[in-house]
Order: sequence, then C-alpha cells, then structure tokens
Amino acid sequence: MITIAIDGPSAAGKSTVAKGVAKKLGFVYIDTGAMYRCVTLYALKNGINCQNDEEVVKCLPNIHITLSIDGKVLLNGEDVTFAIRTQDIVDNVSYIAANKGVRLFLVDIQRQMAKDISIVMDGRDIGTYVLPHADVKIFQIASVKERAKRRFLENISKGIPCTLENVEKDLERRDYIDSHREFAPLKKADDAIAVDTSYMSIEEAINAIIKIIEEKVGPINE
Ligand code: C5P
Repeated sequence: MITIAIDGPSAAGKSTVAKGVAKKLGFVYIDTGAMYRCVTLYALKNGINCQNDEEVVKCLPNIHITLSIDGKVLLNGEDVTFAIRTQDIVDNVSYIAANKGVRLFLVDIQRQMAKDISIVMDGRDIGTYVLPHADVKIFQIASVKERAKRRFLENISKGIPCTLENVEKDLERRDYIDSHREFAPLKKADDAIAVDTSYMSIEEAINAIIKIIEEKVGPINE
C-alpha cells in the first residue's frame, strides 16, 4: 500500500497530473478539492451564508459525498461533477475551506478513504496535515501567469466567459486565502519535493512525478 500526496496552489494542473499518475500506477485518485466544492454547493443551494462558520458546520451531518472510481462526484446521491465547477462555487469555496469544522469533517473522510488502498490524493494540506506519513509528497507549482493562461484557455474551451486578467486576479485571491488561513493552510511540507510544471506538458509532468515516486519507493508493478 503506497500513499502519494500532491499539493500546490490553484490551477497548477494538480488534478490532471494526479489523475494521470494514479492511472499509470493503478492507484485510486482522490480529489479533495471536489469535497470542499461539494460543501460549498450544498450551502449555496440551501441559502446558507458560506462565511457564517456556525451555520455551515450545522449542515455537515446532512452532507454525504461520494467520489466514484470513474471520476464522478455525488452529493447526497446526485451527480454534481459539473455543478461544482461553476464560478459561484469558485467565488465561495475558499471561505468554506477556511472553516475549521468543515476541514475536520472532510479530513476524517479523506483519511478513511486512504486507509487500505494505494492512492494519489491531491489538495492543499495533504502532505502537511491529512497524510503526514505519505510515502511520497509532491508540491506542484507553476508561475501565476502560466496557471492563469491554462485556466483561461480551459474556461474558454468549456464556453465559460472570462478574461485573462480576471482569471489571474481570482487565482491570486484564492491562493492568498488558502495560504493565510489559520488552520491547515496551503504550505509545502518540509519533506515534499517541489515540481515546477510551468514549462512541462501534462505528460512530462506525469512522468517527472512517477520518476520521483519510483526513486523513493522502487518500481511499481500494477
Ligand atoms: O483543488 P480545487 O481548486 O478543486 O479546490 C477548491 C478549493 O478547495 C481550493 O481553492 C481550496 O480553497 C480548497 N481546498 C483546500 N484543501 C484541500 C483541497 C482544496 O482548502 N485539501
């Protein structure tokens, strides 16, 4: 059983790369960002102010999140894979993620998920807090300009209207909130290996990370 933690700022390509690494190694991929997005969606749908920590914590027992092996995200049985990617969610998710009660609730689920299987888990606090004993910790970065460009092109290809300038501002705002929150902020773990993907293709990033993993734990046979 091997656990891989991949952390880093927003839009550094973590989920695409983590998914690719998991697929190549035959591991299960766990997208923790999707879980914070689910809580945000639930709050918005139920008229709960995302900045009211107490109100949000009260609704946690009503929230059941399933991450299916085929990549679908279910919130109380409903497929929300796409609904959690809208701008409304992006605007509010950092407040939900700064709520300690929410974090404790989700971290518990994340640790359960990683218990008896080989996984690749991506997020902001996986190497520092969720899985401090992960076998390999990666801190995936890319310049803010490059991240903004990638997210801008991704939005345009999905028909989501935006400007490059706004995407960049939004990334900087989220990174700031994520790295300045009191509890489990976005931070490179001391024993994490930084991988700058600014000038790498997705395939190159996947291969670079697999190389680091195999150097650390030896060749992995699926
Ligand atoms: O990774 P993704 O962009 O989907 O994450 C959405 C948000 O969830 C992030 O902006 C961050 O605020 C929060 N998050 C977090 N800790 C994690 C994963 C995500 O705080 N482990």
